Amino acid sequence: MGEIVRAVSRDGFVKISAIEARDIAERAREIHNMSPTAAAAMGRTLCAASILGDLLKEDEATVTLRINGGGIAGTVMAVSDSSGNVRGYVQNPQADLPTRADGKLDVGGLVGRNGMLTVSRDLGIGEPYVGSTELVSGEIAEDFTAYYCESEQVPAACGLGVLIDTDKTVLSAGGFLVQLMPGAPDSTIDALEANIAVMPAVSDIVRSGSADGLITAVLLGMEPEILERHPVEYKCYCSRERVLGALSSIGAEALREIADGGESAKVSCQFCDAEYEFTPDEIRELIKDEEK
Ligand SMILES: [Zn+2]
Repeated sequence: MGEIVRAVSRDGFVKISAIEARDIAERAREIHNMSPTAAAAMGRTLCAASILGDLLKEDEATVTLRINGGGIAGTVMAVSDSSGNVRGYVQNPQADLPTRADGKLDVGGLVGRNGMLTVSRDLGIGEPYVGSTELVSGEIAEDFTAYYCESEQVPAACGLGVLIDTDKTVLSAGGFLVQLMPGAPDSTIDALEANIAVMPAVSDIVRSGSADGLITAVLLGMEPEILERHPVEYKCYCSRERVLGALSSIGAEALREIADGGESAKVSCQFCDAEYEFTPDEIRELIKDEEK
C-alpha cells in the first residue's frame, strides 16, 4: 500500500498532493522484471499518474500518461483510476543504461527527450480529453510539470523520486505536485521556490514510509493543513473480456495461425501478472467476430 495526502497552505494559495509509493513502484518492478533505470522511470510515472488520477472528480474516470521519448525504454505508460490506484508498463522493461556521472540513474537517457508526453482523461462518458506537450528532459517530473502548467493554466511544480536498492528492488518512491491558486502573492511564490530549492531529494524524504515529509518540506513555513489522506495501490482491472479484446487486435490472419496450431493460447495482461488461456475454439469465435 502507498498513500496520497492532499494539503493546503494556511493562506489557501498553495495546494499540494504528495504520494508515498514504494510498494506500488516495487510491485511494478516485480511484475515486469524491470531494470533499475526502467523501474525508476516507471515508478516516477506511476506517481505522477496517481496524483493526477486522485484529482479527478468523477468516480468512473481514468487518466492515462503516455511518454514516447525515442529512448531505448520505448513507451512508458501509466493509468490511474479516480482514487489514485495505478498500473503501468514500460515497453522494453529490461532496457538499462549506465548510471550518470553524478551517480544517478539515467532516466532521461533511457526514456529519451525527443517526443511527447500525452495525457488522456477518460471521464467514462464520451470521447476522452487528450492533451500533450513536448518532453523537456525525459526525467518525467519536469515533463509532467510542463504538461500540467500548460493544460491547467496554473503555475505548478512537481518532484518525483525513486531510489533503487543494491539488490535492484525499490527502496523508496514518491512525489508531489504543488499548485498556486490565482492571486497568490509574490512572497508566497518566492517562499515556495526557496523551499523546493533547498529540500532534500524526494526519494530520501519518503524513505520514512510516509508522504507527510514532502508536505512539510515544500510548504515549510506555510502552516499546511491536511485536507485528505487515503491509501493507494498498484491495481489492475483486467478481465478475460479485456484481454480477449486486446488479442483480437492482432488481426484475423494471426489469430487463425494460433487456432490452427491446435493448442490453447496463453495471453498475459500487459499491466499485471495475470495470464488468461483461450482455447482454439474460443479463438475461432473471435475470428468470426473480427470478420463481421
Ligand atoms: Zn491485469
